[in-house]
Amino acid sequence: MKAPDWFPRGLCSGADTDRWLTERLPGGTRRTARAKRLCKGCPVLTDCARFAVTTHSTDYVFAGVALDKDGNTQRYDRLRRIAGMPPRKKSAA
Ligand code: SF4
Repeated sequence: MKAPDWFPRGLCSGADTDRWLTERLPGGTRRTARAKRLCKGCPVLTDCARFAVTTHSTDYVFAGVALDKDGNTQRYDRLRRIAGMPPRKKSAA
C-alpha cells in the first residue's frame, strides 16, 4: 500500500517503526508507551486516526491508539472520535 501524502509529516516517519508495533514481547509486555506519547504531539494525528479506521488497520499504534490483530471495535471508536468522524452505526440486535 502506498503511504498517504500526510505520512512524511508524521513524527513516526523515518523513526524505528518497531516502536509502533503492538505485538506483545515475551512476558506479555508491550513497548508502545513511547510511541503513544509521540503520537499525542503529532501534527497529522487526525489524518492518522482516519486512515486507521478507513483501512481497518491492525498491529500498530495509530494516533496514540494501539490496535491488535482483531477485536478493535472500541479502539476504532476512539480513533473515530480523534478523527472527528461520526460514530459507527450500531447493528440491530
Ligand atoms: S499519529 Fe502517531 S502513528 Fe500517526 S503519523 Fe503521527 S506519530 Fe505516526
